[in-house]
Amino acid sequence: MDIQMFNWHAKSLIREILTKKLELCAKLNHKVFSCKVLNGTSEYDLSVNSDMTISCNCQDFDGAGKIGDFSLNSLEEIISSQKAEKFRKILSDGKLPIPNCSRCSELEIVPPYKYQSEEKRIVPTKNLMVENTICCACSCLACARPLVMKQRKKLALTLEDIEKIAIEIKKHNIQSISYFNLGDPFISKNILEELKIIRKYNPDINIGSSTNGLLLDSEEKFEAACLMNSLVVSIDGINTKMVRKYQRNQNFETSFGHMCELIKYRDKQNKMNTNHLSKLKVGWNYILFSWNDKPEYIKKAMSLCKANNIDSLNLWHTKSPFWATSWRWYVDPFYKGIRKGNNSQYLPIYFTK
Ligand code: SF4
Ligand code: SF4
Repeated sequence: MDIQMFNWHAKSLIREILTKKLELCAKLNHKVFSCKVLNGTSEYDLSVNSDMTISCNCQDFDGAGKIGDFSLNSLEEIISSQKAEKFRKILSDGKLPIPNCSRCSELEIVPPYKYQSEEKRIVPTKNLMVENTICCACSCLACARPLVMKQRKKLALTLEDIEKIAIEIKKHNIQSISYFNLGDPFISKNILEELKIIRKYNPDINIGSSTNGLLLDSEEKFEAACLMNSLVVSIDGINTKMVRKYQRNQNFETSFGHMCELIKYRDKQNKMNTNHLSKLKVGWNYILFSWNDKPEYIKKAMSLCKANNIDSLNLWHTKSPFWATSWRWYVDPFYKGIRKGNNSQYLPIYFTK
C-alpha cells in the first residue's frame, strides 16, 4: 500500500476512535453538537472544490463532506441543501455526521437545542476557500492524493467558474478568500487571469494563498501573487534532502529561489509604482518533524529569512504522520524560548512590519 494511503487509513482509524469518544462525552454531559460552517459563524472552512462541488471542510479527501454543487445551485441553496440539513439534524442528536468532524475546528459542543428544519440558514461571510486546481507536483506523505484525485470530476476551475464564484463572493460580501485547498494554485497557467477576475468584482477583499513554490516560476505568476495580500511558501527544511522526507518531490533550491525572486519582483514593482503598492506579504511555512526541528536548522532558516527580506517564518507543529511528530517542540529550551508560553500549534516569527 502506498504510504499516503497508509497514513490516510491510520488517520481514519484515529478519527473513528475520536468520534466514539466525543459522542460518549457529549451524552454523559447532556450536550449535543453544532457546526460553525452550518450555523453561519465559520471563519475559514467552507470550500469550493476544483469541480465546483462544495465541501464543508478543507480536509475532505474522501468527499464525505460535500454538501452541494455550485454549478447547479447558489451558496444559499447549498447551505440549506438536504445534505446540509441532514448533517445539522445528526449534530443536534449528539452524533457526528462524518468522521472528519472529530478533528474539525468548526465543531462545537453545545447544550441541547431544538432542531428546526424550516429555520433560515446563513452563508458564512468571513471566508471562502477556493481550490482553483487539485493538481500538485509535491506528493507530501500525509496528503491522500490518490483518494482526492478520484473524488474530483474536474481537475481545475475554468475562468467562467471563477467569474461565477467572484460574483457570489461579492453578493454575500465575503471578507476573505483562501485561494488554495488540496492542490497547488500556482500550477494553473491561468492564475493571473483568475486573480484579475476576482479583484475586478472584489477590489478590497483579502486574498491569501499557499504554494509549495515549485511552479512559482514566471513574471506572470509573480504578478498574480502581487494581487494577493499574503502568500505562504511551504518548504519543510533547509536543504533538499531534508525537505524530501515529507514533501517527496520538493526541491529546496528551486522553491526557495522562486520565493526570493518573488520578493525582489514585489519590491521592485513597489518602488516603480508608488501609487499602486502591492500589499503582498510572503511567509515561509515550515512544518516541524523529528528530522528538521533541530534548533540550528531553525536558526539557519531565520537567518535566510532576514537575508532575503522574507516577511515571516511560520513554524507549524503537526501530529500527522504521527510517527514523525517533533518532540523537541515540547521539551527543547530553544522552543520554550521562542514559543513564550504560546500553546498554539502555529508559531509565526516576523522579520518585517
Ligand atoms: S467536518 Fe463536521 S464540524 Fe467540520 S465543517 Fe463539516 S460538518 Fe462541520
Ligand atoms: S503541497 Fe499541499 S497539496 Fe501538494 S502534496 Fe503537499 S500537502 Fe498536498
